[in-house]
Amino acid sequence: MHVDDQAVLLSAPDIGDLEQEYVLAALRSGWVAPAGPDLDLFEREIAARAGVPHAVAVSSGTAALHLAMLGVGAATGDVVIVPTLTFAATANAVVYTGATPIFVDGDAATGNIDPDLLSGLLADLDAEGVRARAVATVDVYGACADYGRILPLCERYGVPVVEDAAEALGSAYAGRPAGSFGLAAAFSFNGNKILTTSGGGMLVTADAGLADRARYLAGQARLPAEHYEHTDVGYNYRLSNVLAALGRAQLCRLDEMIERRRAVRDGYAKVFARLDGVRLLGGDDMAANCWLTAVVVEAERTGWRARDLAAYLAARHVETRPVFKPMHRQPVFAGARAVLNGTADRLFADGLVLPSGSVIGDDRMRRVFDDIAAFLDDPR
Ligand SMILES: *Cc1c(COP(=O)(O)O)cnc(C)c1O
Repeated sequence: MHVDDQAVLLSAPDIGDLEQEYVLAALRSGWVAPAGPDLDLFEREIAARAGVPHAVAVSSGTAALHLAMLGVGAATGDVVIVPTLTFAATANAVVYTGATPIFVDGDAATGNIDPDLLSGLLADLDAEGVRARAVATVDVYGACADYGRILPLCERYGVPVVEDAAEALGSAYAGRPAGSFGLAAAFSFNGNKILTTSGGGMLVTADAGLADRARYLAGQARLPAEHYEHTDVGYNYRLSNVLAALGRAQLCRLDEMIERRRAVRDGYAKVFARLDGVRLLGGDDMAANCWLTAVVVEAERTGWRARDLAAYLAARHVETRPVFKPMHRQPVFAGARAVLNGTADRLFADGLVLPSGSVIGDDRMRRVFDDIAAFLDDPR
């Protein structure tokens, strides 16, 4: 890969001395595989952070979502409600189980699943005699969904919530941590996430049975017999002790990394404040971890489009990305049932994700703010 020294990346890993220390210590301890003390501690520490008693460390956020979907019993013939504005893994995890996703649009302010649409869909399904196996929520770009409305709604219809908190480690809603809202929740420690193990994830839950079952399935569904007895199809989903050590070092620095991302978001808020027609997706939710900051551009008011700013910044080695292409627009999910209000389509067309990584230095960040200010002065 060509590394551009000038480049400002969207969300690069933030790795320092502490991470090196922890990983080296794990290697030197001999606990390389299969499990080890860092793995156990990492699970306990993430569970504590999420405010739930059980955690199962796995090889990716997608694996955690898959195990969560299995945990709610999703299987062929079931439907699972999924926000259309998300990364594909949320929907893929549903499909892995044989179940079918039904997509629901977002609210304009945050992009998170729209409680009114969700309410309508749950009522429609009820009238059709269908009970969804689960409602997946996604805390988009780190901002928690509207659980104050979603949880009572799902409870009324007896449908469990699976929280895709892949992007939301360290966020909160009404004083409760992300990861605590569903029957089960999934975190991701992928390389671009706020905390990385270079690749990894965690299922968290208050349900001991669900956690035990997930741990068993993640470990190849091996029954305790010397000859490896199997009565279920399992998965090789466990996280290694070495990577858990990396995660533990990152967790020590999580608050610091969140502070940094909040400061970056503040900087964007200030740069764009002088302009009508540009807003930050998610507004000023101070309980969010500010994983990624996205702006939404109303071209009718600004006279330029999100993609114009993207091109301007790309020419200056600043990486940006469109907001997620909604799942109902993805060829792989063509024909899926969807309840839409146009929000995800608009955010895809008019949204732009800006460099938000905690590792970007002050000088580089100032350069990005200056570049944007120059563009706003003279949009070309
Ligand atoms: C990153 C992400 C995932 C997948 O996590 P991996 O660790 O990459 O498998 C799932 N859902 C959302 C919303 C994500 O952002």
